[in-house]
Amino acid sequence: MTKITIAKGDGIGPEIMDATLAILKAAGAQIEFEEIEVGEKVYLAGNTSGIAKEAWDVITNNKVFLKAPITTPQGGGYKSLNVTTRKFLGLYSNIRPCRSLHPYISTKHPIMDVVIIRENEEDLYAGIEHQQTDEVVQCLKLISRPGCEKIIRYAFEYAKQQNRKKVTCFTKDNIMKQTDGLFRKVFNEIAIEYPNIDNEHWIIDIGAAKLADEPEQFDVIVMPNLYGDILSDIAAQITGSVGLAGSANIGETCAMFEAIHGSAPTIAGQNIANPSGLIHGAILMLNHIGQGKVAEKIENAWLKTLEDGIHTFDIYQPGNSKKQVGTKEFAEAVIANLNQTPTTLKAAAYNNTSALQLPKYKRRVAQKKELVGVDVFIHWGGEDPNTLAELVKKIELTDAKLSMITNRGIKVWPEGFKETFCTDHWRCRFKPSKEHTIEKSDIIELLKIANDNQIDVIKTENLYDFDGKAAYSLGQGQ
Ligand code: NAD
Repeated sequence: MTKITIAKGDGIGPEIMDATLAILKAAGAQIEFEEIEVGEKVYLAGNTSGIAKEAWDVITNNKVFLKAPITTPQGGGYKSLNVTTRKFLGLYSNIRPCRSLHPYISTKHPIMDVVIIRENEEDLYAGIEHQQTDEVVQCLKLISRPGCEKIIRYAFEYAKQQNRKKVTCFTKDNIMKQTDGLFRKVFNEIAIEYPNIDNEHWIIDIGAAKLADEPEQFDVIVMPNLYGDILSDIAAQITGSVGLAGSANIGETCAMFEAIHGSAPTIAGQNIANPSGLIHGAILMLNHIGQGKVAEKIENAWLKTLEDGIHTFDIYQPGNSKKQVGTKEFAEAVIANLNQTPTTLKAAAYNNTSALQLPKYKRRVAQKKELVGVDVFIHWGGEDPNTLAELVKKIELTDAKLSMITNRGIKVWPEGFKETFCTDHWRCRFKPSKEHTIEKSDIIELLKIANDNQIDVIKTENLYDFDGKAAYSLGQGQ
């Protein structure tokens, strides 16, 4: 018996959770449930995170959490419970299977069966943003080696466990050579360890276009957070309905399973919502806790129910559907079909595999890190980069000479284009003159002189070589 935490959530949450639990019980899932309250009531009682401290204890004790959708109240101050849960529990991996159910659900892509695996914790979602000048704001994109290793290894282990043939990686490493470059590098390193699984890399833009046009070419796709957020919704949508998909959020110790849709308040309490998304969340959960055979039984009964034309209103189509049913009746039809398999749709086949166990991240031997310069970012309202260069040259040291100025990454000095549009946010790169080296104390000295000269420095970034290789971007046009 596995004890799991459940939350019935808001809107249609309680109805679709009751339907899902009825199916789990009838299918013989060896599960005990412990219920917690999260969502609207908790928010409105004054808890801005939507969850009480005691509820966290239940989640971390049981480690597996099946969550119905919740309503985040409108207005400032309320934090998304989903984002908080992912971050607090270290749920680094988001898995979303997207499969077409042609001809029962109409789709332009009848043979699509793709699993999107999205990194869930870092990238632009670290939430580190600053306004730096009147005209410029920034968001830090953080990609870490442990983050890449965990998600990419997860994707290959998932492919191995689920008998999938290929793992594809999407990045934009032609532009973001450091961040997306690291993701791709780690992908290449880990792919070698799985010779029986094909691997490939696509630049995200053309990869996404290909996914939208020929999804049958893909199997498992792994990608950084932002791309995964966008593409997992597109992939679910082009199967014919976002409303049917479930998703898993997996961490080293805890995991959360859910439907991908929201709480649909306008149809709540009417027994009409489709419970399929949460049923799918539960299927992913059963696979995670070693009850794959129960998952298989439920998925096959669900497929058979769709084949029989027993449909909720959202997927009901005259001609394709035979009977429109409510939430409860749909669950009853699935229960009646337990032990049946679909006739034309491909039947699910799972084993009682347990949760994927990944090796602990091992920190590598530290690389040789050498300070080779500094980028000093300046808020300056002028227009001519040559004027700025004259101004900034006043603060030069022998060990820190002005070598370049860029504006939004484009080199504007020396020899910029007069056509380049400039904002009030300038990057001035300082490097030591030949035969000299730069030290941290030089940077402090430089900042002091800048301050004495009323130059408005907003931040600095140190330039390093790692193991003798430059580990920072050049100016565009440099
Ligand atoms: P939504 O997914 O709730 O609804 C979008 C549309 O899909 C609506 O027309 C709705 O009626 C329909 N729909 C959704 N689920 C359905 C189902 N199971 N059966 C039939 N039709 C279904 O998105 P929204 O309207 O943007 O958001 C409503 C609330 O849900 C908001 O408070 C939002 O913050 C919250 N939300 C929660 C989650 C979550 O908890 N995981 C995710 C997304 C949105």
